[in-house]
Amino acid sequence: MRYCDIIMNVDETDLAIKKMANLLKKGLTMTAEICPACNSPLFLDKNKELFCGACDKKVVKATDDQDVENISIEGNLQMVKKILNQKIEKISILISKESEIETLNNLTTLLNNLLNNISKINNLIKN
Ligand SMILES: [Zn+2]
Repeated sequence: MRYCDIIMNVDETDLAIKKMANLLKKGLTMTAEICPACNSPLFLDKNKELFCGACDKKVVKATDDQDVENISIEGNLQMVKKILNQKIEKISILISKESEIETLNNLTTLLNNLLNNISKINNLIKN
């Protein structure tokens, strides 16, 4: 391990400790649970939900196989939504540069389809 790697690790550990101290100050309680993503201890917030200070996000614990399935479906939908949003961004740029009517028509149709799909995903995630 190089010297700069050690420094980097020390800084990261330091930051994680600071984040955890902040959570305790905010009144969250530390639990014996470990974050599946980063192995940091998880905290319980006011709504009794698990929270990882290092990842800075809510952690949902699956209680049975159905939960695991639901969580992974929602994760997949979120991923698809992210990809569609990136495409919308690119298509918007193309539309702004395009002046040929037929191409514009194709691009706006595509944009419309992407927006419809995002709306469908939002409905699925809500239900
Ligand atoms: Zn984490």
